[in-house]
Formats: sequence, structure tokens, C-alpha cells
Amino acid sequence: MKEKEYVDSILVHYGEIALKGDNREYFEEKLVDNLCSALDGLSFESVRRKYGRVLVELGGTDGAKLSEYEERVNRVFGIANYAFVRTCSRDLDSIKKEAWELVRSEDFSSFKVASRRSDKNYRLNSVELNEEVGAHLQQRYEQRGSPREVDLEEPDFTLYLEVTSSEVFVYKRKIDGPGGLPVGTAGKIVSLISAGIDSPVAAWKMMKRGAGVVFVHFHSFPRTDRASQENVREVVEVLSSWQGWGKLYLVNIRSIQRKIITKAPKRLRIIFYRRTMLRAAERIVGQENAKGVVTGDSLAQVSSQTLENLRATGESVSSSVPIYRPNIGMDKHEIEYRAREIGTYEISSRSSRDCCVYMRPKHPETKASLNEVREIEQSLETDDLISEAVANSDIEEFG
Ligand code: ATP
Ligand code: MG
Repeated sequence: MKEKEYVDSILVHYGEIALKGDNREYFEEKLVDNLCSALDGLSFESVRRKYGRVLVELGGTDGAKLSEYEERVNRVFGIANYAFVRTCSRDLDSIKKEAWELVRSEDFSSFKVASRRSDKNYRLNSVELNEEVGAHLQQRYEQRGSPREVDLEEPDFTLYLEVTSSEVFVYKRKIDGPGGLPVGTAGKIVSLISAGIDSPVAAWKMMKRGAGVVFVHFHSFPRTDRASQENVREVVEVLSSWQGWGKLYLVNIRSIQRKIITKAPKRLRIIFYRRTMLRAAERIVGQENAKGVVTGDSLAQVSSQTLENLRATGESVSSSVPIYRPNIGMDKHEIEYRAREIGTYEISSRSSRDCCVYMRPKHPETKASLNEVREIEQSLETDDLISEAVANSDIEEFG
């Protein structure tokens, strides 16, 4: 790949971190850490905060393709955009030389130079610098017998220059990052993850805003097969690549389901089932020192997601464990679209038998009464069983 020869660093621009005032340093440090772990296994010399940006110095890139770096950096939250750059000194001749080296093999008919100065004391302003470098490139093209036009409005190609107090970055492509905030800056949250399409999207949205996510999946093996657990593992693996690490609790709640099936009215099964999940998750929140729970619920998508039923399930846990439902106002097709972008759609779409399918009643309650639900739950006496199920969970690590 031609580009590789002319690149020595990745210049990372962050967006919202810049608004964080006194916390700025903390956010920047976290971004540096997350970038380091995202690039683990690829060669690079250093990752440093510099001039309000983060600079990844690649050194000798030992033949690794830029696309491999791109794939990793695209999954680091907190990055607004980034570029593969060539670094040079601030004198005009070296800028011109680097600019020519970078563009000479590019195929385009019109171009412009776009400069930005973070050091406003530089002897040329941005327009002057654009003109100087642009004129030089035109001259070189003419000498080569292939003249190119400058078009400031709609150029085929843009060459970017960024002047800092000690060096200049030259590059030809700005790549969008995933946005958001560095994972971990918001603390930890516990995700209720099913083998479905919605819950991975919800977890991802919390990650994007800086939460580190610990996953919990409930199953009732051997009543349910291993396939849904396998799907969840695969989904968690993809999501872990967005945060650099992953932890999955697999909790067998068969004993509690059995009680619900034999003792609770059929129409309320799903409600007790969801309450059981939340109560188990509440214990894991304590264990993990997390600050809440995230679910994939979307309003009125299925019977367990009416306002009445969300209330009847949500109130099973203490108010000190908030439940976040970032998909609540999304339509199914919006959620599916996002799942495709994240990389979980295909895995979640494989049919598998979730642990609540076999106990799903034909006519589920859609307007559960809180009093009735509380009363029946007390008589079920599932507290100890839930603690036991959590204590016996299988814990798997990813990433
Ligand atoms: P999903 O596609 O996420 O499964 P859904 O539309 O199928 O969502 P439900 O099956 O009603 O909706 O589940 C609602 C939410 O409850 C899920 O988004 C998820 O957060 C949680 N949940 C459901 N089943 C499980 C499970 N087996 N383990 C952990 N959490 C679950
Ligand atoms: Mg589901």
C-alpha cells in the first residue's frame, strides 16, 4: 500500500472531551489508555497527549496495513475524527516537500489545501499557507506535464495541514471516529443481555457515553439449549471489541423459573421472569461496584414492554439501582440498523431458543397491577434461590 510509506503517526481529534473543563486531563488520559489497549498487538511507538490532540507515533510499522489500524481506531469511543499523517518541521520548504511527497501519486483533477494553526504565532496565516503550498503543488504538477486546478469550492482532493508550536502534520484524508466519550470515564454498568437484537444495541449506547459494561445473561440449561448461550458469547465478543475488555456472567435461573411456572398465574409469568432477572442483576451491580442496569426494552414492542409492565418489573429493585433503557424511544428498524453498524445484527438474528420462550403464555398480561405482582412474589420466596443462582454463575472474560 503506497500510503504506508508516507505515514508516521495517527493524529486523533476528540470532540466532546474538550468541553469537560477541569476533568479534561482525566478524559484525555483515559482516551490514551483506551487507544493503547485497542492497538494492542499492532506495532506503535507511543500514544501521547499533544497540543489538545492525541498522537500515536507509529515508528516503523513493520508492514502492518493501515486498514488494520483503522479497524481498531474506529472502535475507540471519544474520537471525533483522525488521520494518518506525515510529520515535518515548520519551515515552509519542508512543508512543501512533504506535501508533494504525499500527493504526487494521487489521482485527481482539482484540489485545495486546507490549513489549520493551533499556534497562531506562525509567520503565515492559514490563507497564506494554503496559497504558498497550493502554488508549489501546481508548479510541480506543471513541471511534470500534468497540470491540476485549484478549486476552493468543490475540489476532488483536499490536502490538510495542521501547524502546531513545534511541528506540522500533513495528511490527505480525515476519517470519522465513533464519537462519544472514552469507555470507563462514566464508571461501570451491568447489561442484561439476551440473544436478541435489542439488548446489544442498548449496551453499546451506554458504552458510547463512557460506561464500562459488564454483561449478564440468564439461561435455564438444560431446559434451553447451548446455542443461545453461544450466540450471547459471540455478541459479547463483538461488544468487548468496542471497550477493550469484556466480562460475562452466565446465570442459570431454572430453579426460580420452575417455581414461577408452578405457582404464579400464567399471564404474569414474563413479569416475574423479568423481575427475577433484575433482582439477580441488582446483586451483580453490588458485586461489581456498578452504578445501574441497562436493558434493551423499547416501549410497547412486546407485551412485557407496556408502560404498566415496565413499571411492574422495574420496581422490583431498589431505587439506588437505576435502570437505563436507551432504546425506549426507538423503532425496531432503527434498532436493527444500529445493530448492523455495531456488528451484532447477524449473530442476534440467528434463531435460538431464549430461556423465556417456552414459558411465554398465549395471553400475557399487558397492564400488570403492582399490588398483585408484589403479593404473589412474596409468596414465591425466591430470594435465596436468586442469591444461589448468582453465586453459582459462570464468569467468562473476553478481549
Ligand atoms: P432483546 O432483543 O434484547 O432480547 P426483546 O425485544 O426480545 O429484546 P424481551 O425479550 O422482552 O425483549 O427482553 C427485554 C429485555 O430484557 C432485553 O432487552 C434484555 O435486556 C432483557 N433480557 C431478556 N432476556 C434476557 C436473558 N435471557 N438474559 C438477560 N437479559 C435478558
Ligand atoms: Mg429477547
